[in-house]
Amino acid sequence: MVSSQPAIIVHGGAGRGSGERREARLAGCGEAALVGWQVVQAGGQALDAVEAAVATLEDDPLFNAGTGSSLNRDGEVEMDAAVMSGTLQAGAVAAVSGIRNPIRLARKVLEDGRHVLLAGPGAREFARRAGISPVPPETLVTPAQRDRWEESHGTVGCVAVDRNGRIAAGTSTGGTPGKLPGRVGDSPLIGCGTYANPAGAASCTGEGEAIIKVLLAKTSVDLMDSGAGPAEAARRAVALLARQTSGQAGVILADRSGAVGYAHNAEEMPVCYIVEGEEPVTAS
Ligand code: ASP
Repeated sequence: MVSSQPAIIVHGGAGRGSGERREARLAGCGEAALVGWQVVQAGGQALDAVEAAVATLEDDPLFNAGTGSSLNRDGEVEMDAAVMSGTLQAGAVAAVSGIRNPIRLARKVLEDGRHVLLAGPGAREFARRAGISPVPPETLVTPAQRDRWEESHGTVGCVAVDRNGRIAAGTSTGGTPGKLPGRVGDSPLIGCGTYANPAGAASCTGEGEAIIKVLLAKTSVDLMDSGAGPAEAARRAVALLARQTSGQAGVILADRSGAVGYAHNAEEMPVCYIVEGEEPVTAS
């Protein structure tokens, strides 16, 4: 197996400026990056680091994923999540309710291996069989979301590289506020909001309908496969999305060597990354 420099990068969603919540979201990203970093630094697997970091953000009510998810038109939480490894193992869930950590359910779909994407009630039934107990759906609704004063972003994602050169990506979201029930965004769609292959891995955020049309995650990884570094690949992929769709989005990337990069064309996108031997970096 290849040996690599471990690295981790997380995002807390692209969107409009969030004023005083900006600092709190940056701190939340920093905490989640550290949780994932501890896994890869200790020699653990990239997939475990991604799951741990994304679950941390899902449990933080400041983010639009898990607890604190956006509400759909009917005032309900329906969440999407995906996880994928550079070996092309993938698991995803779409439009699920009553699951505290959709990223953990996506990981169960990956480990099960029969399917890539499970949706709605079938995903809940799979969760029960996989030993993930449902929670009452209202426990995921925060007063901020109920009052609609929360800003319209906060999807979360993570890309990690471990010491053995394994790479993984994960994304989790409550989707866009006021969405039609049953709407599925880019996050659980492999190649759209989440992707990993031997060249690198990507997690996206922003306007799902635009991201889906340009396969932003796969486009970004393909650019790395053609020789672009993660920062350049992220810039070029977001520029392509802006040109072709006029949408707003962002992407975080890492390649197998442990180099990371990100770009967005939204007002802000909190990110935190940690690479070996350096202090964590946060930006938005
Ligand atoms: N991409 C997510 C979706 O469209 C939303 C977001 O990233 O803010 O479901």
